[in-house]
Amino acid sequence: MRHVVILGSTGSIGVSTLSVLAAHPQDYQVLALTAATQSDKLLQQCLQYQPRFAAMLDHSAAKELAAALKQAGSRTEVLAGIDGLCQLAAHPDADIVMAAIVGSAGLLPTLAAVEQGKTILLANKEALVMSGELFLNKVKRHGATLLPIDSEHNAIFQCLPAALQQHTHDQQITDFGISKLLLTGSGGPFLTLPLADFAAITPAQAVAHPNWSMGHKISVDSATMMNKGLEFIEARWLFNCQAADIEVVIHPQSIIHSMVQYTDGSVLAQLGQPDMRTPIAHALAFPKRIASPVAPLSFKQMRDFTFTEPQPERYPNLYLAMQACQHGQGATTALNAANEIAVEAFLQQQIRFTDIAAVNAHSLEQFAGFRVSTLDDILALDQQAREHARLQLRKLS
Ligand code: NAD
Ligand code: MG
Repeated sequence: MRHVVILGSTGSIGVSTLSVLAAHPQDYQVLALTAATQSDKLLQQCLQYQPRFAAMLDHSAAKELAAALKQAGSRTEVLAGIDGLCQLAAHPDADIVMAAIVGSAGLLPTLAAVEQGKTILLANKEALVMSGELFLNKVKRHGATLLPIDSEHNAIFQCLPAALQQHTHDQQITDFGISKLLLTGSGGPFLTLPLADFAAITPAQAVAHPNWSMGHKISVDSATMMNKGLEFIEARWLFNCQAADIEVVIHPQSIIHSMVQYTDGSVLAQLGQPDMRTPIAHALAFPKRIASPVAPLSFKQMRDFTFTEPQPERYPNLYLAMQACQHGQGATTALNAANEIAVEAFLQQQIRFTDIAAVNAHSLEQFAGFRVSTLDDILALDQQAREHARLQLRKLS
């Protein structure tokens, strides 16, 4: 029996994780569930999965949850605040921590799990984008196991030789005959929209992804392809490689989830339904395999596969992230912070879709040369870049 903590259990990844766990009650037990503010949803999850602990970022939501649980006769103990989240991520009885908080807010709880040498299933890509070098150093120092949940990185991981899967962080991919990591992306909902129409895109249009059902922030990031840019940076750290080793390929059908190209001419791909329960099941059981509730792929119903290159004028955010990756941790931290502010402002209808790239470009220009090494440096730059982005917003709206 392995004990699982889910950080961000009320979100899209959190719910998918619970769905896989529910299919294997004899192998996994939910130790703790956490969320930011949605006490109703966390209450339902607690009543269904009966974890020993729950935590909410928001103190008054935590109080509401504790009262409702008590009234329902539940024995789940409720913690509150960022300290409560970190405490559960680091709990001595936790074997597996699913890091599925969205955005920079996931960094501290995820690092708390790393520092206890846990097995971390990483969905929260922003944590690596902010702190890649520091994060991987901690993984090595504390003997933590890091398994990618992002479907592309999980696909790449599955296409690596077994000897490299055990040591992705301290081996060179070139020593295993790998020439390129091919990161696929659907291109999002605006793959063929005329560029002249981009400024009028609404939040509702941007969050309606053609293939995947996800949280709002990552859905907007998919529409701008900033998501692929963040994944580019994520891949650089997860697979201990350089920007030049990674190529982005648009594959609108979202059936191939990424590929690995070898020097002998072979290309290995991982295919599956666009359903996060496949990578979640893979990482939960690794190196074994377990069943997931995902329908098998049917090649009788498969449409054509197509591949194109992402155009810079359509996806400026992708190219900003690739540039930031070349500059280093300071640039990626600042870009990530600016993007979180800009996406939220777009969702609140304060700025236009095309303004997201404008805010991000300004931030990269401002902070590209910044060097950060400690966690304090990273958190301070994150705050500074947010302030800078808010100033840009005021100029735009
Ligand atoms: P979501 O918005 O659906 O859920 C986010 C979860 O994090 C919720 O449980 C929420 O309560 C919690 N949360 C939000 N802000 C918080 C804060 N400040 N402190 C503590 N908890 C907080 O997001 P999602 O789509 O599930 O994505 C989660 C992460 O997984 C993101 O980093 C995303 O990039 C990554 N990811 C998601 C998908 C997907 O299919 N949804 C795929 C690949 C990667
Ligand atoms: Mg992805």
